Amino acid sequence: MYFNFHDHYSFYKDKETSLSILEKEKIHTLFVSMNLEEYLSLKETFSDHPLISIGLGIHPWEVKKENNLKSLEPYFSSCDFIGEIGMDFYWAEQKEYYPQQKEVFEFFLQKAEEYQKFPNIHTKGAELEILSLLQKYNVPTPVIHWYSGPLELVEKYLEEGCYFTIGPDVGYSKITSELLQILPLDRILSETDGATSVEWVNGIYGEPDYIKMIVESIAKEKHLPLEQVREQLYQNGQNILPK
Ligand SMILES: [Zn+2]
Repeated sequence: MYFNFHDHYSFYKDKETSLSILEKEKIHTLFVSMNLEEYLSLKETFSDHPLISIGLGIHPWEVKKENNLKSLEPYFSSCDFIGEIGMDFYWAEQKEYYPQQKEVFEFFLQKAEEYQKFPNIHTKGAELEILSLLQKYNVPTPVIHWYSGPLELVEKYLEEGCYFTIGPDVGYSKITSELLQILPLDRILSETDGATSVEWVNGIYGEPDYIKMIVESIAKEKHLPLEQVREQLYQNGQNILPK
């Protein structure tokens, strides 16, 4: 069995085909949402699907001047986890919304603490700020998605109990290679970040079963037997997801 610990349903072009691959291969998948609208539609499509967990979040790229956070309140009790949330001081186009990004992210961390649901976090360019907020709130097992920040912060993230998802660029990126050398095997998870994120890295459209390639690459980079890595990564996912 495999976990895809960070995937985007909306990025799949032929959703029926992708879903049938996911089910055939029994890939337990965490679909993040970019905003409330996407969360509600995921919930409607997949409520009680045995292989799918659904996150409630506002992606940093979706943060606006006004964010009506109150409207999210009714949904925290029923989401499986919090995400995609975070801050992005690199790709996010509207710099004038940086203060709002922090406000929205902190709101979600408070909810993660209050409802004891783990967050799935995007950190691009905001790694130091996010670390200091994780030190402030007592959220369950933060999952750090596709980390590409300063490697000297990784130890501090590990001290906060964080797990790291390794995804499409494993085997292609020097920083991901270096990150993998630092991370203990029991803090690593696998992700695709959606079919088109894989495509963005290597031109291959990443159907759900591409997760096998990612786990294989992780094993190669860690110089460990594939079976050991596959089992440990699955165990790691089980440690985090509520039963
Ligand atoms: Zn994502």
